[in-house]
Amino acid sequence: MVKRRGFIFQGSEIYGGYQGFWDYGPLGVELKNNIKKEWWKKMVYGREDVVGIDAAIVMNPKVWEVSGHLSAFTDPLVECKVCHKRFRRDTFDEFSKSVTGVGNVALKKEYLDAFICEDGKPHPKDKLTKEKTFNLMTEVFLGITEPKEKAYLRGEITQGVFVNFENVVNSSRVKIPFGIAQIGKAFRNEITPGNLTFRSREFEQMELEYFVKPDEKKSQETFEYWKKERLGWYTSLGIKKEKLRFKDHEPEKRAHYARYATDLEYEAPFGWSEFEGIHHRGDYDLGKHKLTYKDKETNEEYTPWVIETSGGVDRATLFFLVDAYHEDGERVVLKLNPKLAPYKVAVFPLLANKENLVNKAKGIYLELKLLFPTCFDARGNIGKRYFAQDEIGTPWCVTVDFQSLEDGTVTVRDRDSAKQERISIDKLPDYFQNKL
Ligand code: ATP
Repeated sequence: MVKRRGFIFQGSEIYGGYQGFWDYGPLGVELKNNIKKEWWKKMVYGREDVVGIDAAIVMNPKVWEVSGHLSAFTDPLVECKVCHKRFRRDTFDEFSKSVTGVGNVALKKEYLDAFICEDGKPHPKDKLTKEKTFNLMTEVFLGITEPKEKAYLRGEITQGVFVNFENVVNSSRVKIPFGIAQIGKAFRNEITPGNLTFRSREFEQMELEYFVKPDEKKSQETFEYWKKERLGWYTSLGIKKEKLRFKDHEPEKRAHYARYATDLEYEAPFGWSEFEGIHHRGDYDLGKHKLTYKDKETNEEYTPWVIETSGGVDRATLFFLVDAYHEDGERVVLKLNPKLAPYKVAVFPLLANKENLVNKAKGIYLELKLLFPTCFDARGNIGKRYFAQDEIGTPWCVTVDFQSLEDGTVTVRDRDSAKQERISIDKLPDYFQNKL
């Protein structure tokens, strides 16, 4: 469906694709942009204590050396000597603990790789190679003299915020506690990309770094506050509450920078899966970059602590799609929150061969299009058009019929209830604006 309707395409598909890379089609880009817009509205415009930045993807390689990513941003890689599959040792161990037989459990592709040998049985434990640390940073080579200089595509967007900490403090009016928000691409040379966009090599993150004065109790309260805020944001946009849960990281699973951490997980068709992390990074990063904060009122100087909310735009897009997908007999309905729906309104003439109906509908379409993403459809019969709009999640369909030509009203059909109302054409902009 995501391919047929133009949400997500395999990257470089005509050349056989490229593992871990995906392209967003005409509807996918709208959905993804809407998610980012709603996030920015809530996290930046909706607050007095957060400002945004947009840092470069490639940074001075020193940043990654100092942040610990070149030595510690790794996954444990092993190979099965029988089938030569390579996978993460931790995934194998985690999965071995929880599953005794493979059965017909819907599995994440990475679990399949990590668990199942070519004979369909688990990889024999004694036939795994010794664990190697595999660095996830993606190398790039720059410059005109040989050997070219090695740099990295950022493995997380976070460091761009830390290295600009002083710039932001000096150029804006922020005072601790405050946050810096950012949305942008990150790259990881993942061992087992898969499950559509869930684990990609190029993906987008939406992150907030929230700086607080060092204080154990208060920073824990801030951590809990952000957990609640982030969960609330997803449910306010329609994700079912029972499909969400927090999973705290065991100390040995925590990233090298985290004091403590929890994952916001969604119950995907392939099992509970992380799509946002809330991390207490303490003074790890600012400390490493030797950056401090000076309180202008008290002259006190200290290294702030950081609470981070780190969401994946692609994973959120995937889970908003999965969560919204409903089958009702033959009919597929994508019950996306109207704020996220690629098109808000579709306009149809009742009959495609009646010029006066088509012209009237075109006029309404062109007017609404200036206000919200609107599409026009005159193909097939009205039932087919509803069917197609339901499948892409368009919340409202406007039909121009013969009565419209007489009294200036149209029918508006609601996607979820399939109920129809007659509305006067001049009231349509307000009607949709209020609903949105
Ligand atoms: P995982 O355990 O699944 O590898 P992670 O704990 O390494 O994820 P973080 O480093 O906390 O992930 O990154 C924050 C967010 O960035 C994740 O919650 C996820 O939404 C997104 N993300 C991380 N890696 C990928 C990826 N390979 N593909 C798509 N999104 C990703």
